[in-house]
Amino acid sequence: MQKEVDLVIIGGGQSALACGYFLRRSELDYLIVDDQVDCGGSWPQTWESLTLFSPSKFSSLPGFMMPVSARAYPSRDEAIAYLCEYEKRYDFPIKRKVCVTKVELQDGVFHIHTADGEQLKAKAVISATGTWQKPFIPEVPGRESFQGIQIHSVEYKNAEIFEEKKVLIVGEGNTGAQLLAEVSKVAQTVWSTHKQPEFLSDDVDGRVLFDLATAKYEAEKQGKSFDASQYHLGNIVMTPAVQEARKRNVFKSQGRISAIEDNAVVWENREREEIDGIIWCTGFGFATDHLSGLVSTDSKGRVSTENTRCKEVPGLWLVGYGGWTGFASATLIGVGRTARQTVKEVVEYIKELKLL
Ligand code: FAD
Repeated sequence: MQKEVDLVIIGGGQSALACGYFLRRSELDYLIVDDQVDCGGSWPQTWESLTLFSPSKFSSLPGFMMPVSARAYPSRDEAIAYLCEYEKRYDFPIKRKVCVTKVELQDGVFHIHTADGEQLKAKAVISATGTWQKPFIPEVPGRESFQGIQIHSVEYKNAEIFEEKKVLIVGEGNTGAQLLAEVSKVAQTVWSTHKQPEFLSDDVDGRVLFDLATAKYEAEKQGKSFDASQYHLGNIVMTPAVQEARKRNVFKSQGRISAIEDNAVVWENREREEIDGIIWCTGFGFATDHLSGLVSTDSKGRVSTENTRCKEVPGLWLVGYGGWTGFASATLIGVGRTARQTVKEVVEYIKELKLL
């Protein structure tokens, strides 16, 4: 059993690094543990051609900017290199290949159990485990009986396995649009979306979504109502690959699906269409299984928080999971704001504990 530290951060992706940045000036004795072999959080698991939806300048963590990319939008490899460099630059205390399976609270001390049987002890915990390990696929009748290739976007690396096939892509977000753009080069594609896909205009990018989220956040903070509909922005960023695919006219949604059969999709209007593969670009839940014995979680793994502070268990914070842990907190540029506030709260919490 290791000695008790002030703080353990579970997860070693961008959210943990942003917290680490603000912890540098604190006196806290802390450790980051991450279940991956290497740096970069979940980014190394994304598909090979992934490009970010904002330029480098708007894809940076606090303190050290992502180097300017030669392309309009940095590649995922550039994002990974940046995160690894960031980690090295600030020399954070990270232990890798440590998978946290359970967190318990005993006599006011967190006991953090790991897959290899080790147990860490801490006065406070920040959970920063992201969403990637919780791919979400909606309940669709017959889905289990499908005989073709069926993957969630987390498993997608490149279009090779779909060559010459007919592929259904489900989902109207940036992932759906980017995979449709790529797969449609080598396969016949059909697109299912829940609502009409909305595209940003060519001259704006993900930064606008961030600005909009900021304006909404500021309005809400001042108790003012905020009408996002006036912006008519859409949410799909017109990266060069998406623009190229638009020229090929691939972004034609056939609407919702009502069932999947062994070799076909059944559309809402009951038309049946044979397909060989499906890619579910239907989002994620939250990787909080390790907290399930400690706090209540909803069906997606969400924990009840006030900003990032867990309402149910003092001494526990959750950072980087998305809107419920702070606006834009699941983005490179957005996580800094919530990390700064979280670290401030953790430092105060530990200080008070030590005075007791
Ligand atoms: P992660 O990067 O997932 O890091 C969490 C770490 O915790 C991982 O290493 C994970 O393996 C580890 N972990 C999980 N469970 C445990 C456990 N029990 N024990 C120990 N370790 C654990 N954002 C942008 O700013 N710009 C973009 O262009 C952009 N594009 C995106 C495209 C896609 C397809 C996706 C999915 C996301 C994109 N994002 C983008 C969003 C965002 O940057 C990522 O979701 C980001 O990875 C979140 O960082 P994180 O540190 O919170 O989580």
